[in-house]
Amino acid sequence: MRQGAVTCPRENDDAATEEDDPVDVIPRILKLDAGGLPVEWVDWREAVSLYFTDKIAWEAGSEKICLRGGRSRETGIRSELAIDSIIAVRDRSHRFARNLVPALTRRELYHRDGGLCLYCGTRLGFSQMQIEHVVPRSKGGVHEWTNVVSTCEACNRYKDDRTPEQAGMSLLALPYEPNLAEWLILANRRILADQQAFLERLAPRRQRLTV
Ligand SMILES: [Zn+2]
Repeated sequence: MRQGAVTCPRENDDAATEEDDPVDVIPRILKLDAGGLPVEWVDWREAVSLYFTDKIAWEAGSEKICLRGGRSRETGIRSELAIDSIIAVRDRSHRFARNLVPALTRRELYHRDGGLCLYCGTRLGFSQMQIEHVVPRSKGGVHEWTNVVSTCEACNRYKDDRTPEQAGMSLLALPYEPNLAEWLILANRRILADQQAFLERLAPRRQRLTV
């Protein structure tokens, strides 16, 4: 197990209890395969399991996430583990092959389109967003990243079962299919700076939406 270089900060340790552990705010860990390519986000429980089963090949982050366990009955010392923000694992589980298209999910689509209606530019709450097929499905449009955009209800209703040309509407940005690195960025709203920098190096440069 690769740990020990970092010790967990000691503040409030004596007063802390398991209930204090901010489990819900612990950042997710970026898991890489043995070739250094990103695979997926794992939560701290899975990361701990990878450390304890000696699956960590190397660490690539600049952040450490400190977890504390229970106290030893014999020594009274609390166990602790510093988990790296980016970990490469030895196992060969390639959940994402290099050319696999990331899942088209509502949440990631919302973030890809910047939380905007791609026709009128209105900023949308997540629950307000509607998924719109640029080429309507009735006209052979497919349910793929390159044919879906987020819209407000009014634009979706107005466009109806027409192409943008037929409806006299234009898109603020062309829908694109994110690669895995972009998808992982979109899929984690509490991404750490070093994780973001790592993934951005693998993401194609794109015109950002500026509305
Ligand atoms: Zn709109």
